[in-house]
Amino acid sequence: MFDYSAPPNLLQGRVILITGAGDGIGRACALSCAAHGATVVLLGRTLSKLEAVYDEIEAAGHPQPAICPLNLETAAEKDYDDLADQLFDTFGKLDGLVHNAALLGPRTLLDSVKNEAWQQLMQVNVNAPFALTKAMMPLLRAAPDASVVFVSSSVGRKARAYWGPYAVSKFAIEGLMQVMADEQEGTSEIRVNSVNPGATRTAMRKAAYPAEEPENNPEPAQIMPVFLYLLGPESKKVNGQALNARG
Ligand code: NAP
Repeated sequence: MFDYSAPPNLLQGRVILITGAGDGIGRACALSCAAHGATVVLLGRTLSKLEAVYDEIEAAGHPQPAICPLNLETAAEKDYDDLADQLFDTFGKLDGLVHNAALLGPRTLLDSVKNEAWQQLMQVNVNAPFALTKAMMPLLRAAPDASVVFVSSSVGRKARAYWGPYAVSKFAIEGLMQVMADEQEGTSEIRVNSVNPGATRTAMRKAAYPAEEPENNPEPAQIMPVFLYLLGPESKKVNGQALNARG
């Protein structure tokens, strides 16, 4: 695992928005950030899942989170701008933005991928993170040292056959991260990095590898050190890096 031990109050006073916060890695990230003192904004498409995470955070006595139900497949520019306005009115800043939500999509030969499926996946995995980041820039600039984290994949760094639009979308995420990081370097206090979680025990992993024993992979909570590191002040100078959750 990525070697980092987070102090209990690491994220105290920080506001962190996590997409796909209702399940899998996003859920674990929300719980872990809240447990380390952050006020988390839970963005996702399934309200009941977001509410369950909200309840869990509240029951544990962590800072009260906020819920933002939004389908990234259909969200329009106005939805992102409205969200930015709401967050500005409530918090005045955004210290962390974790682009975690993604679709796995069809895992077939590229020439069998339907155009519609390609576009749907690019909308959620690439266009939405771009539009959301753009809308959040004024809030990120208002924070003393903001951190943007793009959740990538090993196939976003070295592609493999049959990983289709998913692999291509993760390459795009790495590109988005690199362009943004270079633009912010020396011009703002915003840092931008990516994380490859590695094989993790979630619904997406199960869909990608149905025959695999889930117990062989770590649970989402186990891969949190790298996220905490990137979202906390100790990574202030880390920018443009492609990190791995599993060391
Ligand atoms: P997951 O269990 O399938 O969770 C994905 C989350 O994204 C869910 O909360 C889902 O919401 C949300 N989401 C999907 N489409 C959305 C949309 N249109 N609008 C809003 N939210 C949407 O997947 P995961 O394994 O935790 O994956 C999290 C991230 O890690 C992804 O970026 C994935 O590519 C990456 N990753 C995972 C692994 C792994 O082994 N698990 C490996 C490499 C990279 P619902 O719950 O409502 O469906």
